Amino acid sequence: MAKTIIVSNRLPVKITEKDGEYQMIPSEGGLATGLGSIYKQGDNVWIGWPGHEVTNKKDREKITDQLKEQSLIPVFLTQEEITQYYEGFSNNVLWPVFHYYASTYANYEQSNWDYYQRVNAIFKDVVLKVAEPGDTIWVHDYQLLLLPTLIRKEQPELSIGFFLHIPFPSYEMFRLIPWRAELMEGILGSDMIGFHTYDDVRHFINAATRILPVNSSANILTKDDRTIVAEAFPIGIDDKKYASLPDEPEVKKNIKLIRDTFGNTKLVLCVDRLDYSKGILQRLQAIEYMLEHYPETKEKITFYMIVVPSRDTVPQYAHLRDEIDKRVGGINSNYRTMEWTPIHYFYRSFPIEMLSALYSTSSVCLVTPMRDGMNLVSKEYVASRVYNDGVLILSEMAGASKELIDALIVNPNNTEEVAKTIIRGVYMPLEEQRTRMKQMRQIVAKFNISHWVKIFMDKLNEVKQLQRSMQTRYVSANTEQSIINRYIKTRKRIIFLDYDGTLVDFKSNIEQASPDNDLHTILRHLCEDPSNHVVLISGRKHENLDTWFDEYDIDLVAEHGAWFKKQGTKWHRLPGLSSQWKLELLPILETYVDRTPGSFIEDKSYSLVWHYRKAQKGLGELRAGELMNNLKYAAIDKGLQLLPGNKVVEIKNVEINKGKAALTIVDNENYDFILALGDDYTDEDVFKALPDSAITIKIGNNVSAAKFYMRSPNEARNLLRHLTEQSHVVHADK
Ligand code: UDP
Repeated sequence: MAKTIIVSNRLPVKITEKDGEYQMIPSEGGLATGLGSIYKQGDNVWIGWPGHEVTNKKDREKITDQLKEQSLIPVFLTQEEITQYYEGFSNNVLWPVFHYYASTYANYEQSNWDYYQRVNAIFKDVVLKVAEPGDTIWVHDYQLLLLPTLIRKEQPELSIGFFLHIPFPSYEMFRLIPWRAELMEGILGSDMIGFHTYDDVRHFINAATRILPVNSSANILTKDDRTIVAEAFPIGIDDKKYASLPDEPEVKKNIKLIRDTFGNTKLVLCVDRLDYSKGILQRLQAIEYMLEHYPETKEKITFYMIVVPSRDTVPQYAHLRDEIDKRVGGINSNYRTMEWTPIHYFYRSFPIEMLSALYSTSSVCLVTPMRDGMNLVSKEYVASRVYNDGVLILSEMAGASKELIDALIVNPNNTEEVAKTIIRGVYMPLEEQRTRMKQMRQIVAKFNISHWVKIFMDKLNEVKQLQRSMQTRYVSANTEQSIINRYIKTRKRIIFLDYDGTLVDFKSNIEQASPDNDLHTILRHLCEDPSNHVVLISGRKHENLDTWFDEYDIDLVAEHGAWFKKQGTKWHRLPGLSSQWKLELLPILETYVDRTPGSFIEDKSYSLVWHYRKAQKGLGELRAGELMNNLKYAAIDKGLQLLPGNKVVEIKNVEINKGKAALTIVDNENYDFILALGDDYTDEDVFKALPDSAITIKIGNNVSAAKFYMRSPNEARNLLRHLTEQSHVVHADK
């Protein structure tokens, strides 16, 4: 049976060694709990580093056996590997850059990068030892960005999901990393990529499309013909656990202890890991500001500040810890009274029974990171407030602020705002507290950790199905052969060919896209067969088509159907068309050219086209949207249609339509083989207009009315070439 394999840097246990014996201490984190519903079932497993260097082969085997009972598979790493891949690259490049601290803390060392690649490859080897066709792999977090592609290269059919637990930064940050393309390539081996917030999704899609040849349509990316979906899945917590903890005797005891100690003042709680992204120093500044500018708060408000030790052997972190020590010491010595100390500061971790008691007794929970992927403390506080009271102050830079919109949201850099908000929170009327807390509790309860796991897995399956349906539409070798077989059997054929994007790739200069020798040969062979009626149906100007295709025995349709020329006759135009409107719209288009370097206008007899292929990426798309918006009403008024195409916006008379043109040609003729190839919006009209028996093929795999799709003009040319080649062989044999 197919299984699910979870992969993360760390296993949900920590190995410790005592007198030669190994002990496994399970992690109580929310993620371990949430994913427990997966990896503990059936043949499913969790792969990761066990948190301890084990060099002895026998010990490794022993540990592996012990872990196997818990469905865990260890990835053994040497100290050197951990230092360079984890401390070096993950925490000294990816962590700071992804948290917008590139300029202060990022350190781009080649050897760290080498190790990062090496360790990702080690993980890949362990995964591939257990992965079988049909399995699903769920890769977690920034330490394993290369893993999806490493796996995909060897097992292309596996279903691979990836979740990033930290923010994905703006392209402007991500681009600073020397190995940005390799990292992006690595992540894009996934079928689905999850982030905490929609902003992360936006940043990711933007970076992907700028760094690699990847297309995007909304949150769907296409890379080398593979469909990849990027989505926001805000992680949740085990809300029920936090709601029930206050009933435990140990927690009750702690609650009483806290009340006895701080009963006279309002308690404001802060819980953070030691990290520069948590904004601890900035928060202390706000506390000091409050005490200085609002002296009435003295002896009324007490801060309970927990900083959980983390990486303090690294100089930057040790420095941060010293700074916090100093700042807290300074504030306390300045403002302390006989009865009261403003900040109760603890540099250590607490058991969950104490944390829960603090969550239950604090009037305010103050969470002000400079950047945080989600921030679970804020959700744990909310889940613990079973009486619906209490106030959450939350930084707008934390992912949680996108969900917990009823918190008091602050900008952590705004010292005065934070100071005032603390006071507002402490003195908030109970009714308002309840209204806000109830809303937040509903969200935390609904979007809990099991919901998160479920919607991630459901969506991954959906993406896999989407890919499969795309695959069946793709013109595979088999499909191509059956098209050829039908071609060979038929005697009265019509073939509609769009030009740009279908027979030739787009060029930045529209004049450059003239047919090459290869295309001339293909067209010549198609026209040589008297059973073929070839129609070139393009949006180009008729003069243009004339110069290129005059020598062939084919029909030409220009400007999407405004002009038509049967071989050997003159050009006809569609009767009753007006071009008066152009006088009015041209000046508007010109303002867009003036404001968008690299863009230009193409003036056709019955349409105007604004081209932005050479405009700065992003700006062209922005202006195109603006232009469409701007002309929306004028277009209806004047009977015009606005067509967003491939890096163009075309404005034309509604009556002009490639579909109508195609239908006029097909009408009343009994063709037994109808083939249409096209790539854009205007070709959709052809696909829709043709009878059901027609073989319609879209070049490019976005949503289309066509029956099939191909990846590129090159593939389209191959099909046309094979049609004539094989038919020639068959007929020569007869
Ligand atoms: N936490 C803990 N021991 C402590 C204090 C906090 O285990 O002494 C937990 C806390 O309950 C929360 C996690 O550490 O689940 C911190 O998660 P968060 O998302 O807030 O920050 P991160 O450390 O992941 O950046």
